[in-house]
Amino acid sequence: MKKSCDIVVIGGGGSGLVAGCRAATLGKKVIVLEKDKNLGGGLNMASTLRTFGSQWQKDRNLPDTTMEFMRNRMDECFWRLDRKLAKNVIQGTGKFFDWFTTICPKEILDDFYVGRYVFDEEDGPLGPQSGGHHEGVRGKGSGRVFVEVCAAKLQELGGEIITQAVTSEIVTADGAVTGVVATIGGEQVEIECSAVILACGAWIRNEEFVRQHYPKLGEAIGYMGESPHMNRNYTGDGLALAEKAGALMDTENLTIRMMGPMTMCRSRVMGDMANSAYSIYVNKNGERFVCEGSQLRMGVFNSGAVQLEQPEGKAYVIFDENTLRATIEKQENHPKPQMAMPFGASSFPTSLEEAKKDVQAGLDAADGKCFAADTLDELAEKLGINAEGLKQTVADYNEACVTGEDWDCYKPKEWLVPMNQAPYYAVAASLGTDGAFGGIMIDPNMQVKAAAGGLVGGLYAVGDIASGRFLNMAGIKMQYLNDMAFAVSSGFVAGTAAAK
Ligand SMILES: Cc1cc2nc3c(=O)[nH]c(=O)nc-3n(C[C@H](O)[C@H](O)[C@H](O)COP(=O)(O)OP(=O)(O)OC[C@H]3O[C@@H](n4cnc5c(N)ncnc54)[C@H](O)[C@@H]3O)c2cc1C
Repeated sequence: MKKSCDIVVIGGGGSGLVAGCRAATLGKKVIVLEKDKNLGGGLNMASTLRTFGSQWQKDRNLPDTTMEFMRNRMDECFWRLDRKLAKNVIQGTGKFFDWFTTICPKEILDDFYVGRYVFDEEDGPLGPQSGGHHEGVRGKGSGRVFVEVCAAKLQELGGEIITQAVTSEIVTADGAVTGVVATIGGEQVEIECSAVILACGAWIRNEEFVRQHYPKLGEAIGYMGESPHMNRNYTGDGLALAEKAGALMDTENLTIRMMGPMTMCRSRVMGDMANSAYSIYVNKNGERFVCEGSQLRMGVFNSGAVQLEQPEGKAYVIFDENTLRATIEKQENHPKPQMAMPFGASSFPTSLEEAKKDVQAGLDAADGKCFAADTLDELAEKLGINAEGLKQTVADYNEACVTGEDWDCYKPKEWLVPMNQAPYYAVAASLGTDGAFGGIMIDPNMQVKAAAGGLVGGLYAVGDIASGRFLNMAGIKMQYLNDMAFAVSSGFVAGTAAAK
């Protein structure tokens, strides 16, 4: 079977639907090929957005922090990223949103209110937000809204969205795109087109690729468990399609962000004790590896990198009755306790009795996450970690609590509370991730660079699979713009460019 259109978008997630819809509003005939039976990909779950320089913000007299924000982010990335791409993308967030206001039904647009990206402090821009699970449920998160509105508008404009379509090839001639080959409903379909926008998302479920570029994660992946960030569709199909079409690949800056220690469990207290600076973290050898409390400075999205370096990527949060009591007292005396609470202290109990009741719920779950014991030997045995190592670590730590000098992990004196009162507790913490990013080199208009030099005619890459907005610095993702903002902005920029 043969079909034809102006632009084929491969991937009906966040960046793909924005790109396709944008091109359709510019008069192009667009076909979106989505591998899954549902649309939206990761963007369905993305909550808050960073927007820069939009009319929507100007109309509300919100300060424009674009210049300062970009300078600081580029400083953090040592100016090793393409300034023109950065400018297009950051300004693209505002252009995207202003365009979005022209296609969005009024009743949905009215639900947008002034807010900040969930992890931003004062320096983050105030901009449009809709609902979002982090801000108390007020309808859908912004990502889902973008998906639904763009998909509907695209179809209204005569665009086609085909789900369960698997693309096997991007056809090129003389260094430019001429079409794609896909399997739709068991049938091979050739679609003739003059541009292709690759928007297939991340590659974290491509185990072979991950093992090749992240051997450590390859080992640890078995301990990470299911999560929306590990969606089975994230097999990085776009990488192989692009490479075959002549793309220049960026394997230097491929990044998987590691979050940890992750301590979601049946006991809120046990989970939150990972965020108390009075706990210690140990690895399978029973050794500490970081100043507990540093999570706050490292940022939740990167704090797992050091855990990944531990044997089997495992970490155990250890505390006892004394440190539990100290945590409760600290927060009783200070509404904002001196604890590193990256996700925020979630209504920690105010009495030891209440806390221990909650801890018991975690222990009763017997799901291999929460443990208690009368001795460190017993605790180590239950955890399956080195008992001598754990005992030595706790002895050294208690000594540091006496001298006030933690020469092992440099913990501040005020956080040093001895661990000397049974029961001893532990949470077996896992690693998490917020995704895998990068791979295809692009120019400032999201057009794919060619391995042979120049650009691949008519080929664009957007969203998670595109390279250029971040650096991989020893496994840490240093970026100038976060994921959803890049996805919608890069989609908007590519849709505009491809329609020309
Ligand atoms: C749980 C979760 C929460 C998040 N929260 C936030 C947040 O709060 N803020 C933020 O900034 N970012 C957040 N993100 C990240 C953000 O959602 C992503 O960066 C963004 O969705 C990337 O857009 P994308 O189009 O590249 O990928 P996606 O939106 O994931 O879309 C990719 C699409 O391509 C499809 N696909 C894959 N292979 C093929 C193929 N061969 N052919 C056709 N289709 C294919 C997939 O099925 C998917 O639908 C979150 C992500 C997740 C998973």
